[in-house]
Formats: sequence, C-alpha cells, structure tokens
Amino acid sequence: MLKPGDTIGILGGGQLARMMTLAAAPLGLKCHIFAPEGDNPAFDVAAARTIAPYDDIEALEAFARSVAVVTYEFENVPARTAEILSALVDVLPNPRALETTQDRFIEKSFIRNLGLLVPDFLPVDSVESLMAAVATLGRPSVLKTRRFGYDGKGQAMLKPETNLADAWSAIGQSPAILEQFIPFEREVSVVAARNAAGALVTYDVAENRHAHHILAETTLPAHISDETERAAKEAASRIGSALDYVGVFAVEFFVVGTGKQEQLLVNEIAPRVHNSGHWTLGGAETSQFEQHIRAIAGWPLGSVKRVGRIEMHNLIGSDVDRWQDFVTEPGLYVHLYGKAESRPGRKMGHVTRVLP
Ligand code: AMP
Repeated sequence: MLKPGDTIGILGGGQLARMMTLAAAPLGLKCHIFAPEGDNPAFDVAAARTIAPYDDIEALEAFARSVAVVTYEFENVPARTAEILSALVDVLPNPRALETTQDRFIEKSFIRNLGLLVPDFLPVDSVESLMAAVATLGRPSVLKTRRFGYDGKGQAMLKPETNLADAWSAIGQSPAILEQFIPFEREVSVVAARNAAGALVTYDVAENRHAHHILAETTLPAHISDETERAAKEAASRIGSALDYVGVFAVEFFVVGTGKQEQLLVNEIAPRVHNSGHWTLGGAETSQFEQHIRAIAGWPLGSVKRVGRIEMHNLIGSDVDRWQDFVTEPGLYVHLYGKAESRPGRKMGHVTRVLP
C-alpha cells in the first residue's frame, strides 16, 4: 500500500497523465512522468520527469527504482518495456491487461469467451484471407489493424464498391481483423475501477457521440433501458475480474435494437482512464483519475455517485480558442490541457456541465 509522500510512475505525458497527476496531489502522492521527447502536458504538473524513448533500458531501470508503482496512460506500451519495469516494480494494471487489449483479435476472442456479444470478426493477414473473410461476413464491414489503432486510425470501411487490395494497402498490409458492420442506435461506455482486493465499482453508463472517429460529446444518463444499463455494468465487472485488473478501465459498446430488442455488443476495452469518463471530474463524487490512483495505491475505492445530468464536450483543435466563453460560464468545469500547439483533430481540453 502506498503512503502519502510516495511517488507513482506514469508512462506517457499526455492529458490523461496530467489529470492523473493532478488527482494524485490532494492525496499527498507525487508523480514521475516517463515520456519520449515531444509536447508532454503532464510535465507541467509533475514532481519528476524522464525524457527518454520507451526502449531505453537504463532510463527505464532508473525510473522503476525511483517510484513505488508504475502505471500508464495508453495501451500501446511495448511488451518489452512492461517486462523490464515489472522485474523491478509493480506495473498496474498488470501486463496481461495490456497483452489482451493491444491486439483486437485477442481482445475480441477474450470478450467472446466470457459469454459477451461482440460484432462477428475474422482474422485477416493477406488479400486472399480478406477475400475469404468478406465472403463470410459480407459488406459493409470494417477492416481494422490488430494493433496500434485508435480514433479510427488503421481502419477501412469496406463498401460494396471498395477494392479489397486497395483496402488492404490502406491499412498498411498489417495483420488485421475484418469485423461485421454494426448499424448501431447509439454508442455507450462504462468506466469501472477495481482494486487488488477485488472490489469493483462502475460509473453510470455514458452515451458517446463521435465526430470524424473522435469522441465529441458524452452525456448521462444514456438513453437505454435500466436493464441494458445493468447489463453494461455487469459486462464491465466480468471483464475486470477476468483480467484480475487493478485500476480504471473503460468498456465501449454498440447498442443495437430498441425497446425489448435492445442489446449490447462490446466494441473494445481501454485499459486506462478514458475520455468518456472525463465527466467524472465534477460530475461524480470521485473522478476516474482519483479512482485510478486509489486503486493502484492499494487504497479503498471512492464513491462513483453521479451528482447530476451530464454534458461533456471535448475541445478539439480550434474549439479551444473559445476558452474565454468557457471560463465565463458559471458552474462550467473547464479543463484545458496546456498543449503547446492546437492542430485539427487534437484533443485540447474538455468542458463539463452538471445539470440538476
Ligand atoms: P474503434 O477504434 O474500433 O473503437 O472504432 C472507432 C469508431 O468507428 C467506433 O466508435 C464506431 O463509431 C466506428 N466503428 C468501429 N467499428 C464499427 C463496426 N463494426 N460497425 C459500425 N461502426 C464501427
């Protein structure tokens, strides 16, 4: 169990690391950020920083020795990095959660084996296997690289007219899966936290609207039945326990059908704090960032009670130029990430309204 004054190591220096570091401070915990060269907004608020590539063994070992536990803000932590660190210090969530969620084929197989529904999928590793997969799953369908995809990157939609060789090239001819296209009613997610004692809490289900594959808006409560709300939380709970997970994670779902036909398909698991949980800063009694720190510190988890109806808006690219409007609105929770440069599609901040 960590004590006030201890230091948490975080791999990655983006906004998620920044918000975890800010949440650790009131608990008396410090953070040491390890990130490669670049614009690292977490550096502004951290007690210590290491700038080095993720394969710099000497830097990783020195980092591991300077902290009480290591966590991360992104799922693409190289396996070798996790291995070097975990020889010296606890890495939480455990490297198994990384292995399972880094590869879409492994991830979807894992979820299906838990008895949860996922869109039908098949592995693809050549144009020939892509043709065979399309013959089975039909079109439209979605070709996704097994690894390193996020915010719609590494994906190609296969329409009736799409040339398969072109689609295979478009995703870089990397090992992939072909997934059935789901004409969903809405997208929802559950943010959950689990600690080493096996206690697990789930926040209310969030409804997410994406624009250009990037999360634009999260609202709560989600427009789903109470039964679907319970099923989503139960699915998250099953996933967290099966991974023997410690920390915060998110499960994203597609909601298909309406009324009695409403059903959930799991889209993906994020083994980290998640953008669809940003509303918890101000909108819940304990934020997802504090919850993650509590879990990896071996502390009791906090209350997940939601304090009102929620509207969270991401500030993407030039949205952030309206910052003066945001800070003028009474009661609006404003989070600006302090990034050096705003670019189209870049997450620059978010704002949350908590309504009665
Ligand atoms: P992903 O990176 O897999 O989360 O995909 C990003 C977004 O693309 C999702 O949030 C959906 O809006 C859309 N998408 C991904 N897979 C599918 C699918 N099988 N059917 C319909 N839409 C999808």
